[in-house]
Amino acid sequence: MTHPAQPKASHFINGEYVEDTAGTPIPVIYAATGEQIATVHAATPAIVEQALSTAKAAQKAWAKMSGTERGRILRRAADIMRDRNHDLSVLETYDTGKPLQETLVADATSGADALEYFGGLAASLTGEHIPLGEDWVYTKREALGLCVGIGAWNYPTQIACWKGAPALACGNAMVFKPSETTPLCALKVAEILIEAGAPAGVFNVVQGMGEVGGALVTDPRVDKVSLTGSVPTGKKVYAAAAEGMKHVTMELGGKSPLIIFDDADLDNAVGGAINGNFYSSGQVCSNGTRVFVQKGIKEKFLARLAERTGNAILGDPMDEATSFGPMVTENQMNIVLGYIEKGKEEGARLICGGKRADMDGYFIEPTVFADVTDDMTIAREEIFGPVMSVLDFDTEEEVVARANDTEFGLSAGVFTKDFTRAHRVIGNLEAGSCFINSYNDAPVEAPFGGVKASGVGRENSKEAIKHFSQVKSVYVRMGDVEAAF
Ligand code: NDP
Repeated sequence: MTHPAQPKASHFINGEYVEDTAGTPIPVIYAATGEQIATVHAATPAIVEQALSTAKAAQKAWAKMSGTERGRILRRAADIMRDRNHDLSVLETYDTGKPLQETLVADATSGADALEYFGGLAASLTGEHIPLGEDWVYTKREALGLCVGIGAWNYPTQIACWKGAPALACGNAMVFKPSETTPLCALKVAEILIEAGAPAGVFNVVQGMGEVGGALVTDPRVDKVSLTGSVPTGKKVYAAAAEGMKHVTMELGGKSPLIIFDDADLDNAVGGAINGNFYSSGQVCSNGTRVFVQKGIKEKFLARLAERTGNAILGDPMDEATSFGPMVTENQMNIVLGYIEKGKEEGARLICGGKRADMDGYFIEPTVFADVTDDMTIAREEIFGPVMSVLDFDTEEEVVARANDTEFGLSAGVFTKDFTRAHRVIGNLEAGSCFINSYNDAPVEAPFGGVKASGVGRENSKEAIKHFSQVKSVYVRMGDVEAAF
């Protein structure tokens, strides 16, 4: 019998499901059991061509619709997503292995927020009037044209919506390629947009590995590329986009600092560290994986952290009591286990976890290392798994310098009751998305993105509009034209 997660076909182009079985088969594995639940096929060159030409053809008429009309469609799509939240969350759990306890509140709901927010903004995307004596200039905010979205595997519904919603609100068309690891959820986003009234071809999904992404990024018809992925992929995609002078948004990896001063509320700080390391089993780009704890409270912090981490419930992700799921793939599990071994070898003190969980699926126990030093591999490289590194510090000046000593700059957080210090520290940290007495909140109203190697551009908020549109300026002369001859 076909598994309920099996999509009708691999791709969604021009308003319908499309199949081409000549493409390389991509098995979809349920991370909680290791069982194959679906198969899709990578896009062949013919499928890529069909998606790009369809999107290109659909974009002009879509941009000519009023913002109010486009916005209405996006808001309708948001309503449909909310109505189907349960089914979409189950699919997200099959796609990623993340527990239903999370997917019910963080995936289709976050996607719906983006559709609703950008749907609401669509009608307000106006230019300005610039008076110049009798003459004047007016500006128009115009669509970029054909956009490509490429997603990572940790939030397949959310990433498709965070890219698709602002792109469509501005009058662009999009071809979206999910990660080959999680190909299922973006197809549902495409299906729902059509149901909500989007014209065929404005949002298309094609499957495939990096080479399909590469074909999309280098196509001369494409005006913009928005990638969520790792820094090495980001460098490749950015370079390929530059070759064609395309706009880019790069949402890449991080090794973000979370700084806990000795006056912080201990339980809130522990909660922030848990949210910033163990949500989605640590597979979150903005995670605060370098937890700097001021020396005076270090042992108390570690004791409370170990106690609360012991309350994590590993198990069947479809059981809403489960609070901690598996790694997305066996490969990712092995990468993370490799980092855990490195942490042990390099002399970090294991506080809890530290191994594969004794159960089916790709589960790793939530792991905390203490006495981590700045030069250890686990403190320098992005692990993308449930491995928290706790480092000690004495002074504010010292911790800020150490926190900034990384190529990354996605997020940063600080826990303290001293608000002057909180704002001063955040002001001195090199990061794009920051938190005070909290960690990892990502409301659609707030800009999201990194500095340094963590990325270029911003997603969400009004900032995203700037990255999916461009300004045309028009000089209007009211009198005669003066010329030299
Ligand atoms: P990858 O960088 O491996 O892949 C990202 C996407 O790019 C995938 O769809 C991948 O396809 C595709 N791709 C790979 N090579 C190319 C290429 N040459 N041209 C075009 N596309 C290509 O990331 P992961 O999927 O492993 O995701 C984990 C990474 O994503 C982490 O480093 C994490 O920090 C980052 N991330 C960043 C976020 C942010 O907003 N800043 C949010 C979430 C994750 P395929 O995998 O199918 O080969």
